[in-house]
Amino acid sequence: DPITGAENISRFRQRLLEILPESGGAVVKFSIRQFSFLNEIFGNEKTTRLLCQITETAGHHFHSGEFFCHHTEDIFYFFLAETDEQTIRSRLDTFLQELGHKTDISQTNYQLAFYCGVALSQGGGDPEQTADILMTHVQFALNKAEGSHSNFIWFFDSELHKQEELENYIESHMHQALAKEEFKLFLQPKKNLKTGELESAEALVRWKPDDGRLLFPNQFIPLFEQNGFCVELDLYMVEQACRLIRSWIDSKIVPIPISVNQSKLLFFEPDYVQTLEGILERHQVSPKFIILEILEGLALENVEELNEKISQLQEAGFRISLDDFGSGYSSMNTLSRLKINELKLDRGFLLSAAGPEHEKSRLIMGQIIQLSHQLDISTVSEGVETAEDEEFIRSIGCDVGQGYFYHRPISAKEFHEIYMAEPGKRSMNVSAASANPKSD
Ligand code: C2E
Ligand code: MG
Ligand code: MG
Repeated sequence: DPITGAENISRFRQRLLEILPESGGAVVKFSIRQFSFLNEIFGNEKTTRLLCQITETAGHHFHSGEFFCHHTEDIFYFFLAETDEQTIRSRLDTFLQELGHKTDISQTNYQLAFYCGVALSQGGGDPEQTADILMTHVQFALNKAEGSHSNFIWFFDSELHKQEELENYIESHMHQALAKEEFKLFLQPKKNLKTGELESAEALVRWKPDDGRLLFPNQFIPLFEQNGFCVELDLYMVEQACRLIRSWIDSKIVPIPISVNQSKLLFFEPDYVQTLEGILERHQVSPKFIILEILEGLALENVEELNEKISQLQEAGFRISLDDFGSGYSSMNTLSRLKINELKLDRGFLLSAAGPEHEKSRLIMGQIIQLSHQLDISTVSEGVETAEDEEFIRSIGCDVGQGYFYHRPISAKEFHEIYMAEPGKRSMNVSAASANPKSD
C-alpha cells in the first residue's frame, strides 16, 4: 500500500486463502469515525500520518500467523488467529485504547473514535467461498458498529442478519406481492358455545412468496405497521373476505360473518368508512357480514375520537370487535367507555386460568364476561386448545370460542370445503370431537 507501507487488500486476501483451510480466525474491518471531516479539519498530511500511526500500532499488536492491510481511505482489515469473542473483544479494546491516546490527532482535543466489524470462521471448507462470506459479513458488522452509539466493536450475528435479510425482502417485495396476490386469506372458525355451531370466522393473512415459503403475520405485520403498508393490506383482506362471502351468496350458501383485523393506521385515514363501504358495494355484500377487529392499544390514545369512528362504522352497518383484550394495558374502564359489539379475551387468560394462579384469573375472566354482557357486548375466548378450556369458558358464560381445539387457521378453500360446501356441516361439535389440529 503506497500510503502506509502496509500490505494491500490483494495480499490480505491471498493470505486469508492460505490460512483458512488450516485454521479458523476473525476478520476485522476497521474504520474511523467521520474520516472525511478529519481530512477537512487537519488536512491531508496529518490524516496520512494518522493512517501510518495506525499501521505502526497494528504491527505491534499482531501475533504470528496474523496479518492486516490498509485498503482505501480509513479502511483497514485485520486477521486475528482467534475465534473466542471475549478474547477478540479484549484484544481490539486494548488496540483501540492505544490508538485513542498515541496518535497525533488524539493529542489535540478532537475526539477520535474507531469502529470494528468482526466476522468469525472456524476454518475448513472452500477457502474462496469462506473468504467471500467473511468479507461480506464483516461489512454488515461494520455497518452495525458505525450505526451504534455505544458499541464500537460489533460481531456479525447470523440470527440478526437473517432477520434483517427477511425485513429487507419484505420491504422490497411487498408491493409486487400484493399485486401478484401472494397474500392469502386464511380463516379460523369461531364456535358459538350455546348452539355448538359455526358462528363466524377470523381472516388471518399468510404470505406465500413464489419461492415456496409461508410467512406468518408476526414476521411482516409489525413492519407494515411501521411503514404504513398495513393500510393497503388490511383493505385488501376486507376485499378478499367480501369476495368469499359473495361467492357463497352466488352459490346459494348462507354466509357467515368474517372478522378482519384492522390496524390502527386505518383509523386515522380520513375516508376510512367510505373506502370500506366502497369495497362492500363493489362486491354487493352487506356490512352485517363484516366484523372489524381493532386492538386494545388503539383505545388508550383517544377514546372520544375512537368512539366517534366506531359510531360511524356501526351506522354504516359494521360490527366492531376489541381484539386481544387483557394483553396490554386494558382496563374495565376502557371496556365500559368503548361502544364495541364484541370483546375478544386474549389467549393469556386461558393460559393463566390453567396455571398456578388459576383461581384468580378464572374469577377475573368471569367478571369481564359478566360486565360485557351487562354492556350488551358479545364475548369470544381466544386460544381454546383443550376440551377443558372449552368447558371452562362455557361455564362462565362466554358466547364464542376460537382456537386450535377447533381448528388452526386454514386456507379459504379448505375452510369452504370443511364448513361451508355441504349444508348441515356447521355443527362444530362433530369436528371438535375429532379435533386434531391441522397445521396452517
Ligand atoms: P389475532 O388477531 O389475535 O389472531 C389470533 C392469532 O392467534 C392467530 O395468529 C392465530 O393463528 C393464533 N391462534 C388461534 N388459536 C390459537 C390457539 O389455540 N393457540 C395459540 N397458541 N394460538 C392461536 P396469526 O394468524 O399468526 O396472527 C397473529 C396476529 O397477526 C393476529 O393476532 C393479528 O393481530 C395479526 N394479523 C393477522 N392477520 C392480519 C391482517 O390481515 N391485518 C392485520 N392488521 N393484522 C393481522
Ligand atoms: Mg384478531
Ligand atoms: Mg386476537
